[in-house]
Amino acid sequence: MQVRGVVQGVGFRPFVYRIAGEEDLSGHIGNDTGGVTIEVEGLEASVERFLVRLRAEAPPLARIDSIAVQDLEPCGEEGFRIESSSVKGRVNTGIPPDAATCPECLRELFDPSDRRYRYPFLNCTNCGPRFSITRRIPYDRPQTSMTRFKMCAACQQEYDDPTNRRFHAQPNACWECGPHLMLVATDGTVIPAKDAVSETIELLLAGQVMAIKGIGGFHLSVDATNEDAVLKLRQRKRRFGKPLAVMVRNIEAARTLCVLSPDEEALLLTSARPIVLARARQQCGIAPSVAPGVPWLGIFLPYAPLQHLLFADERVYALVMTSANLSEEPIAIDNEEARVRLDRIADAFLVHDREILQRCDDSVAAIVDGAPQLIRRARGFVPLGVPLRLEAPPLLAVGGHLKNVFALAKDGVVYQSQHLGDLENITSLAFFNESLAHLMRTFDIEPDTVVHDMHPGYLSTSWAKKWAKEHGLQTIAVQHHHAHVAACMAEHQIDGPVIGIALDGTGYGTDGQIWGGEVFICGLEGFERFAQLEYVPMPGGEGAIREPWRMAFGHLHAAGIDLAHDAIRSRLGISEQEERLLKKMIERKVNSPLTSSCGRLFDAVAALVLGRREVDYEAQAAIELEGVAIDERDEDGYPMELAGDEKNSGQMIRIRAVAMWHAVLGDLKAGRGEAVIAARFHAGVADGFVRAALRAREAKGLNRVVLSGGCMHNRRLARLMRAKLEAEGFAMLQHRRVSPGDGGLSYGQAAVAAAMLMRKKN
Ligand code: ZN
Ligand code: ZN
Ligand code: FE
Repeated sequence: MQVRGVVQGVGFRPFVYRIAGEEDLSGHIGNDTGGVTIEVEGLEASVERFLVRLRAEAPPLARIDSIAVQDLEPCGEEGFRIESSSVKGRVNTGIPPDAATCPECLRELFDPSDRRYRYPFLNCTNCGPRFSITRRIPYDRPQTSMTRFKMCAACQQEYDDPTNRRFHAQPNACWECGPHLMLVATDGTVIPAKDAVSETIELLLAGQVMAIKGIGGFHLSVDATNEDAVLKLRQRKRRFGKPLAVMVRNIEAARTLCVLSPDEEALLLTSARPIVLARARQQCGIAPSVAPGVPWLGIFLPYAPLQHLLFADERVYALVMTSANLSEEPIAIDNEEARVRLDRIADAFLVHDREILQRCDDSVAAIVDGAPQLIRRARGFVPLGVPLRLEAPPLLAVGGHLKNVFALAKDGVVYQSQHLGDLENITSLAFFNESLAHLMRTFDIEPDTVVHDMHPGYLSTSWAKKWAKEHGLQTIAVQHHHAHVAACMAEHQIDGPVIGIALDGTGYGTDGQIWGGEVFICGLEGFERFAQLEYVPMPGGEGAIREPWRMAFGHLHAAGIDLAHDAIRSRLGISEQEERLLKKMIERKVNSPLTSSCGRLFDAVAALVLGRREVDYEAQAAIELEGVAIDERDEDGYPMELAGDEKNSGQMIRIRAVAMWHAVLGDLKAGRGEAVIAARFHAGVADGFVRAALRAREAKGLNRVVLSGGCMHNRRLARLMRAKLEAEGFAMLQHRRVSPGDGGLSYGQAAVAAAMLMRKKN
């Protein structure tokens, strides 16, 4: 039989060896190019039980996608053997993702009689680094950064013993033969310490900023209960508003910081150990500057032995653990690189001599509308493939501009890269190139098509065109929101036609304007724009993203509302001079593109209601608006009108916010609270789009709605959209495996291109 899925490098062969023995079956197992091949012979009932157990008892990191069974003549084989991992042909099962320390290893870590007592690099076939330490396939020790450590006799014996938990555990190591920690000062000299971990704890508790080498890169760490230390870190890292992730000892400690649902706890405990956004408790002891302005905390649990050792000290309650970089640059991985780049940020460095070969940030997830959703897909998930129903020719989709992730597709599977950050500088582009080369090698994919966004100004677009030209490949441009909706369709394995709703920040439209509040009638291959949020000017262009007051001005101007009314000017903090300037910009169409963006509508309302003039990170104002309404019950939505009549005149429907603005101003004047206004606004937006979907159903006879775009990270909006759509009898699909934001874009681009190429072929 052939087993497909994640079955290499996860302890699958020893597991099969064990159950074959228990069922008294003879035969053999070996890795092949697509997974593993098993031959067993014995009693029929035993073989049947074997097949059931294969699925039911598979090791924790294994994922079985399919088992193809074939009858063979018995050949009288004796005993069961594991064939060596040398493979004929190319392997395409690739490398497993990094996995958190398993319970057995954790027990050894704190067992004084164990030979790996307090060893910061212990692991086994059920846990440990994988993707981040692997240079190329097949995933075998010589291809990893463990190659320079020669196993001692004891480790080698475990590695060779099929009954041992460490059978073929590639990063297997111990005090005797494996990597070691070192404490290094900013000038590169080694700080003499009897125990680098204990010394690091003392420095952290003394309020120092530590750079700690982890699994996918360095973390910058401070005591999360020490406000001065957190502020020091923020100033040095030049990151002011964006919340910082906090690591705590275990799930009990997590409960003292956040109100956790069973789903959130399960998400925290998965072997990927993502950062989970959860509701923070009041007075949980975390310094206020960790997550200013929002009622959530991004928390996660230790996933490397070193992190468990830090938390073994009772005095360590919660640590800020944030990617070691300047904002949106790639995370640092190399000891010397870290020392140079973090010179002015960290007070000292806790490093080790096991090289990180693939940068990989922590993943970020949240429970959105009752199920997990990925916000940033990286460590613990990459390089797992996501299926695509279409078996398209090999292609590369380069993704977008912000929060870039590219994707390689082949044979009906899409492999997305780790989160690469904003493609705005040379270091990010270098990271892009390095990851691309690695994933192409890993999955043996030579693309013959390059897919990119329609935006002519994206660095990813110009890179794609240049690269395609150099390699003589064809290119396909995909509209941003079509890619968003297609990503959700492909994730749910549907082709359309559907009503696709993209509620997003910004994306380049086919008319050259900036889209982001769109209702499409679409399939994978193409789309028709059925409805949109009515265009408003975006005075200052990109600058209006950083300064939401400009967006508020654009909206109010479009709605014909005089700023002299109801103290609007003072709420937005606009001087008369600024007002004149912006008015002129809009009227003369100078740097004032039109936008139908839903995210920018959120920004505009947040600017007016919360007085948030400027933001430190994209969508900050919108996120704060979601935050203030967190405890508010569902309110009636503000009115959003539909203009245009698709049915009779073929005119596109426009969702207008004019009446909504008047209602917001009315509520502000009446002294209504921010929370109520925010809740009514969320409901109003949802109502507006649901009504547009109703029109689409009427006009096109479609009942299936697919939701995508960065605004779908907004939990309140996601929940309201589903509730309202289902109340109208729609069947509705949301993202689960791929991010609804720009992190999922390349997956959607791949789906669209695959559909186009398949049609051409047939
Ligand atoms: Zn383990
Ligand atoms: Zn050893
Ligand atoms: Fe987007």
